[in-house]
Amino acid sequence: MKIGIDIGGSHIGIGQVDINGKIINKKEIDLEPEKDQDLKKYITQYIINELEHIIQSSDVELIGLAMPGTIENKVLIESINLGIKNFDLAKIIKEKYNIPVNVNNDAKCAAMAEKQFGSLKNYEDCAFLCLGTGIGGAVFLNNKLLKSKNNNGFELGHIIIDKNGPQCNCGKKGCFETFCSIKRFKLKVINSLNLKPNTKSSDLLDIIKKNIHNPEIQNIIQEYIDNLIVGLSNIIDIFEPEAISLGGGFAYFKDVFYTELLEKFKLRNYRYNKDKITDIKIAELGNDAGIIRFYHYIEQ
Ligand SMILES: [Zn+2]
Repeated sequence: MKIGIDIGGSHIGIGQVDINGKIINKKEIDLEPEKDQDLKKYITQYIINELEHIIQSSDVELIGLAMPGTIENKVLIESINLGIKNFDLAKIIKEKYNIPVNVNNDAKCAAMAEKQFGSLKNYEDCAFLCLGTGIGGAVFLNNKLLKSKNNNGFELGHIIIDKNGPQCNCGKKGCFETFCSIKRFKLKVINSLNLKPNTKSSDLLDIIKKNIHNPEIQNIIQEYIDNLIVGLSNIIDIFEPEAISLGGGFAYFKDVFYTELLEKFKLRNYRYNKDKITDIKIAELGNDAGIIRFYHYIEQ
């Protein structure tokens, strides 16, 4: 049996996968450490505790870890979203249980899942954007995931789209993700309507739909779409993808953006060859993305 562990910006999921790649058991928790609690310790303790139960009752041959941030030699070098550096969870698990552990970036895992099973399965040249707390991405050419030699590479969220734009966590100004992360979109809506800072996504979606004709909300949506199209056009110019799939929190808010995004995008006529416009898709795997992600990750 294999185990997939998915550490997101705000949750941890652990799934057991049988030899046919089917999930037989899955557990998810929200990442809610106490104030001032060491996040690395919190994550490690939770995972070791869960693994203890699983390993006692089953024969585990491999553990796959998906984590948000830069991975080098199985170490999470830096996760801006989690606010941690140099986290070698693979080593801790390997030393405790003597089971091989693989590690990969979570957006890359989601991209591979969409490529193999979801919205990108019919495209050879394509890109995936995970629009969430930040923007993660991956590019496939000739069905192959492009990789750089050292880190993950393809930090599509840090393409600058306005040199005078807001400060990004990476140190630059005006990165794509400072305009088009879903975190920033939600924040703008919350501020505009004077909502509670911790308003849940599900409530927020209802509130946006009820206020869809509010001029301020319309401004936020249109500005988001316009900026998104700038980012997409850069990706199209560099990689000439047949399709780009949009996932993460964006997929959850798709009703707010998608129809208008498609209309505006078509008017720009961005082509990947002389007569074909790049398809803009929405990630399809939804809540199953985690499950498929475990599976696909483990199979690498
Ligand atoms: Zn940046």
